[in-house]
Amino acid sequence: MGVLKASFLLAPTVCLIAADPSSVEVRAILPGGGRAVLRLQFRRGLLIEKKPLPPTFLLRKATGGWVVFEDLSAEGKWWVLESLFPEDQWNREEVIHKVRWPELESVWLMASLFMGHGQNYDKLEMANPKNPEKLLSGDLWKIPQRLLSPELGGSGTPPVHSQPEDELDDDGKITAYRALLAFDEDKEGKFAAYRLRKGEALYSSVVIRYSDRVDAKEVNALADEIAKRSGIDDVRSIQPGTLIKIPSKALSAPFQPEGTVALKADQEMREEVRQTRRVDAGPKLGGLRIVLDAGHGGIDRGASANGIWESDFVYDICCRVKQLLEENTDAQVSSTIRYPGTGYKLRNDIPVPTKAAQILTTPPFPIDGDAASAVGVHLRWVLANDLFATFLKKGDAQKTLFISFHADSLHPSARGTMVYVPGASFVPSSFSLGANRGAGVREMKKGSHTAFSSRERLQGEARSRLFGEALVKALRQSKILVHPNRAIRNVIHRDGKNFIPAVIRYNEARTKVLIEVANLTNEDDAANLRDAGFRQRYAEAVVNGIRAHFKK
Ligand SMILES: [Zn+2]
Repeated sequence: MGVLKASFLLAPTVCLIAADPSSVEVRAILPGGGRAVLRLQFRRGLLIEKKPLPPTFLLRKATGGWVVFEDLSAEGKWWVLESLFPEDQWNREEVIHKVRWPELESVWLMASLFMGHGQNYDKLEMANPKNPEKLLSGDLWKIPQRLLSPELGGSGTPPVHSQPEDELDDDGKITAYRALLAFDEDKEGKFAAYRLRKGEALYSSVVIRYSDRVDAKEVNALADEIAKRSGIDDVRSIQPGTLIKIPSKALSAPFQPEGTVALKADQEMREEVRQTRRVDAGPKLGGLRIVLDAGHGGIDRGASANGIWESDFVYDICCRVKQLLEENTDAQVSSTIRYPGTGYKLRNDIPVPTKAAQILTTPPFPIDGDAASAVGVHLRWVLANDLFATFLKKGDAQKTLFISFHADSLHPSARGTMVYVPGASFVPSSFSLGANRGAGVREMKKGSHTAFSSRERLQGEARSRLFGEALVKALRQSKILVHPNRAIRNVIHRDGKNFIPAVIRYNEARTKVLIEVANLTNEDDAANLRDAGFRQRYAEAVVNGIRAHFKK
């Protein structure tokens, strides 16, 4: 899941209003419909007309009629680059910049706009060894994701410092993190005050920890908003002790002020977790029904960055978990998906994306088109629900487990595993998948209608959280990195909406999680996933987590 950069702005229809040998001016359309002039000058960089800009585009208070590019927020910078160079391609792994004004542009300028500073020009030249130094109109320059400035989604990984609460379990962390906040109000409304500690960055220690945002774009936008509200000029160099104001509306449920509905619901759920008893499935896990799922596949590779892509690598982990369970336990195991070319064979090297994959419905459903990929997402839970319905004729409902494996592309400063559980308030009380979306598979009959009472939704989240805890613990014991700030989450915030992925939202397993194994945008995480040894260790840790959870 996740994207490096989405085109969240209008298609920028710019018009050229003036050009002379030493500068060019274009009028660019703002998200709200207004227009602002961008002036690109030979050897003097880029100026933006200040007056029409929305406040969220500015990083600091600027005087005069023009602001320099460097004084724009991440949101503002994205808008300028998109407006000025509408033909640039923003891919997950790289930006392809097309030279538009060869007499005004330079490698130095590209480095300063895309990489944070002109001094990075030599790295840019190294990444484009065949390009001539003298720019020509239409030349394509490749800016790898890792070279982009952090605000544009590049790797600016802040150093990892340990904090006292790092070793606590999820519940302990929530309590500790909450204790670091003070609730207050100013003329802009209610906020939670936080004092940044040594080694902490606004992105990871405030935004990712205290909000439900994880995507690079979302994290950057909220970091900019918080910086502005807190009177911080440069988000990259904030002194320890600086007062950070987090707007209340951006806080995750467990950090909401006293008396709010969201906080009350969260506390109720945590109490439910404490009351929930583990189910004993014995040492060989006999009587346990497990359905495994690997995200994406076929035409849909999922997220990609740093030379790898999601589908094949998470499928390989899924195959390893399946094999370990089949060889060492008596659990009944199925996978929702199969790659017909390699079957469930474990692979050490995965050189290129596998083109064919099918969901194991009756008949099998090939993921061979964009529409097929969208249908496939639903068929995974439809198939799982059908398998569970068959199991329940004799089996114990408490012994049903569903795990979906994914890898995400988050803000590059984020590292490690994140576990998603179905937040009780994001699961509908009933849902039916329209017959026309079910591709005519036989499993639609039993599996496509779901209904959960409020009690079941609460239990579903609590039981899944308890499993998440066991999983996180097992991963840590195997020295596998889990997300340092709240590794277990029950909601994702994206494009102004809160949601939980369909594959666990409509799933009737009593215990169900979606695991984001690693953050592909982070180079170290990507290198891990590429390594078959890591994938094996990961699979072993997952099985250890399953064993630990299904034990009293
Ligand atoms: Zn995914």
